[in-house]
Amino acid sequence: MAETGDSKVLDTVIVGAGLAGLTVAYQLRHKKILLLEKEEVCGGRTLSRKMGEYAYNAGAQVVLGDDSETSKLARALGVKKTLIRKTRLPMHMKGKKIAARWEATFLWELPIPLWEKVKMGLKILRIRHRYSELVDLPPDPNNRKMQELCAATLEDFMGAHHPDVKAIWDVLSMGANTVPSHEVAAFQPINTFLHFAADEFFVEGGTWELTKALWKTVEDKTETSAEVEEIVQKDGTVQVTYDHAGQRKTVEAKRCVISIPAPLILDMAKEIPSWKRDALSKVDFGSMTTAGFLMSENSEVFLGEGVWRMPIVGKKIVSVTNPTFTFSKEVKERTGQGLLRVYTGDKVSKELQQMSDGEGLEVLADELVSTFPSMKGKIVTSSIKHWVHAISPWRLGRLEIAEDIKAPTGRIHYCGDYTVSGGLEAAVLSAQRVLDELTREPAKEQER
Ligand SMILES: Cc1cc2nc3c(=O)[nH]c(=O)nc-3n(C[C@H](O)[C@H](O)[C@H](O)COP(=O)(O)OP(=O)(O)OC[C@H]3O[C@@H](n4cnc5c(N)ncnc54)[C@H](O)[C@@H]3O)c2cc1C
Repeated sequence: MAETGDSKVLDTVIVGAGLAGLTVAYQLRHKKILLLEKEEVCGGRTLSRKMGEYAYNAGAQVVLGDDSETSKLARALGVKKTLIRKTRLPMHMKGKKIAARWEATFLWELPIPLWEKVKMGLKILRIRHRYSELVDLPPDPNNRKMQELCAATLEDFMGAHHPDVKAIWDVLSMGANTVPSHEVAAFQPINTFLHFAADEFFVEGGTWELTKALWKTVEDKTETSAEVEEIVQKDGTVQVTYDHAGQRKTVEAKRCVISIPAPLILDMAKEIPSWKRDALSKVDFGSMTTAGFLMSENSEVFLGEGVWRMPIVGKKIVSVTNPTFTFSKEVKERTGQGLLRVYTGDKVSKELQQMSDGEGLEVLADELVSTFPSMKGKIVTSSIKHWVHAISPWRLGRLEIAEDIKAPTGRIHYCGDYTVSGGLEAAVLSAQRVLDELTREPAKEQER
């Protein structure tokens, strides 16, 4: 059998070089591996762009927590990150810009009925008290608190039936998983909400620096512009066929780690058992569109000092961020310029994807200026990026299939943020789980 003697058989083929696939490759870098990435560059949803003297993240914005596995990885690679010392709790709603110092004043200033403020405040206290311990734990179907968060939509869980209150939770929900509060279980947005209270870090130069550092360690074992088309298990190995610049190639390995969004797997791995196919086919991804706007004045002029991220309620834009937050005063004073980064949820992103980039940017610029009139005439240049597979929203019923989603099938292992929940930390945790699986015997095909 090829498993023991054949020198052409690789140890592991990894499909997809986002943070998850790169982390697996990095840990296996001393073995006979091959990392295949369909784009010209590695990094997946962590790409960053330079604008003026600044950088902004077209993909993942922040690393959460200094003790997170993502932070530990950054430290091991010598990638610098800076704490975002936000001092304000901001929100834009019904033409009102709030930038409160304290939670109580934030609630007080929200343009919603008084009784709804009280209810929201009490609900938030209860959530903090009961669910904080769940932050970033891999979803466990046997955990009662997890079950509670997965049993109701965010709208029902928060009792967000007043239209203004629902609009607020919709924005937080879309920020966390691209879709509004009635479409997802409470788990994912509550997890993100609890996270916001934790420390958030900006990777110096942009989040892409992290995945570029990983890529550098496995450059000689990586093929880019290599789009995997078929994965088949045969004679104790896995055969992976891909297109490389118009050429069809096949490699054989003892194991394969698939590290791409679930909806993309079904076409390439046709032979996976039906229970796995069923589970993966229930995992959808929502879209997001992000855009950077270089401004002729410092970002603080528009958003205010101490504001990192301002959620925008009831508009096409879900949130505006100040990516210059951690840049030095010297750069800001010398250039006199600012940079803003906006993003949308799934519905608006899909509309924008139908337009040219120029048209899409015009829509977003109009939206910005109608929200912040002082931005009129201040946009120097702009850039847009659509993410068709941005985040996988946790619909009701997701917890019940969580184990099947991540379970290996024979010599094929499943990696990527969606196999945990969503986000950078989920991507790294998924890689660690797969590395652990790889040390064990191949999974027996089970009928379920
Ligand atoms: C706009 C945006 C903002 C975000 N903000 C944050 C944030 O602030 N904090 C946070 O923690 N998370 C954030 N996230 C989520 C975070 O970016 C992702 O969870 C994480 O990067 C996912 O990594 P991954 O490796 O699982 O998947 P991906 O990064 O999607 O990697 C999959 C890779 O597979 C490749 N691929 C696909 N098909 C094939 C094929 N057929 N053959 C070969 N290669 C293929 C893709 O090109 C890609 O490089 C954000 C995401 C988006 C889109």
